[in-house]
Amino acid sequence: MKEIVSTEFDKEVLSGGKVVLDFYSSECPPCEALAPKFEGLSKLYGDDIKFLKIFRQQNRELADKLSVKSSPTLLFFDNGKEAAQRLSGGIRRSDIVTQLDSMITHEKVKTIKSQIKPVVSEYDVIILGAGPGGLTAGLYLCQAKINTVMVDIALPGGHVSTTHEVSNYPGFIEPQAGYMLSHNMSEQTKLCGTVYKVAVDVTRVDLAKKEVVIDEFETLKAKRIIIATGTSPNLTGAPGERELKGKGISYCATCDAKYFVDKEVVVIGGGNSAVEESDFIAKFASRITMVHQFDKLTANKQAQEKLLANPKVNVLFEHEPRAFIKEGDKIITEVENLKTRQIVKLVSDGVFIFIGFQSNINLLGDKLELDKWGYIKTDEDMRTNISGVYAVGDVISKKYRQITTAVADGTIAAIAIAKELD
Ligand SMILES: Cc1cc2nc3c(=O)[nH]c(=O)nc-3n(C[C@H](O)[C@H](O)[C@H](O)COP(=O)(O)OP(=O)(O)OC[C@H]3O[C@@H](n4cnc5c(N)ncnc54)[C@H](O)[C@@H]3O)c2cc1C
Repeated sequence: MKEIVSTEFDKEVLSGGKVVLDFYSSECPPCEALAPKFEGLSKLYGDDIKFLKIFRQQNRELADKLSVKSSPTLLFFDNGKEAAQRLSGGIRRSDIVTQLDSMITHEKVKTIKSQIKPVVSEYDVIILGAGPGGLTAGLYLCQAKINTVMVDIALPGGHVSTTHEVSNYPGFIEPQAGYMLSHNMSEQTKLCGTVYKVAVDVTRVDLAKKEVVIDEFETLKAKRIIIATGTSPNLTGAPGERELKGKGISYCATCDAKYFVDKEVVVIGGGNSAVEESDFIAKFASRITMVHQFDKLTANKQAQEKLLANPKVNVLFEHEPRAFIKEGDKIITEVENLKTRQIVKLVSDGVFIFIGFQSNINLLGDKLELDKWGYIKTDEDMRTNISGVYAVGDVISKKYRQITTAVADGTIAAIAIAKELD
């Protein structure tokens, strides 16, 4: 692996051979998360593919010329031409491997795979999920000098990182940008000394043995596990939804509302998330049609009143989506009037779906005791029914799912574990 500057770009990258080039920046958590994966892969693939790094902030002109807009960005070259799809943001090891494998022969891939040595590392506690619940547990454990590893399939922050504004987290007079609040939580825990393994593939979880395998080859062992995996948005299940996910159908206003300036959108849902997120989308879109299954919105009164006073917003009560169809640049949402059974076609530029969440418990096996909605049951110290396994935050069975409640759960689990391990 080698660091280059822009004047060496032609010689090192364009003059031939296979190259992967990492545009990184300083003070960039996703770059920090990528660095050990990039280095590890350079040892495996280095005989066939040249691994180069370039500091984006000091080579900005080249970055602009190559249209590199964020750090980290990985570019792949074969004989001077860009060869594979660029990767950026929270890059997983498996995504890089897929690109690298596509650049070399099948035989080479087989040889490289046979050289991968399993790695085992031991900790006191493994935390699965780096949202507010997991991050707070990590902070308390770290401050109690307990050797902890934080594992997340994405970058740290959980739902907060994609919430546009948080106005109810104590300690801040002004509303905070969600990504900043989650960034600060994550940095506080990381600076304390908690080990981070983020943007990884969680391959296997054995709760009884307290083992987690990540990226297929690395086994983490611990005395305790905290499950803090949160929730994922529910799907409507209507035909076309899965196919159009990310291609016009979104579950995250903070991430995607900006693409709908002066455009028309459909929002499915009528609870707190749907109403609050529609209020945000209305800053961009020219018109919002909300589709809600009941005869009134179920969000809190204040948020409802604000939204309904917005002339851009129109609500179709007692309707449910039945199909999503792409026609050119438009999405047709077929909705059924639950009273008349009549189907209405709504033409829009995009659709946002906010119809609740489900717990992230896949991979955790079938031994955990759950409530009837699939959330993990815990006692008052956040212990689950499996010895040494705790659960915190939105993934547990509880009434109120908020940042403050997740943070409280994380605190309780960490203190209980610290006492047990003392
Ligand atoms: C749109 C929206 C707006 C919101 N606004 C507010 C608000 O203004 N105020 C407020 O208090 N609350 C708000 N909430 C609720 C709040 O965000 C959640 O209650 C809180 O984030 C829960 O924290 P958590 O740590 O339990 O889970 P999450 O934040 O969901 O984090 C879970 C983490 O686990 C990771 N993960 C998932 N599966 C695995 C796996 N198998 N292995 C490893 N990691 C995994 C995920 O990548 C994620 O990083 C909002 C929620 C949404 C969706």
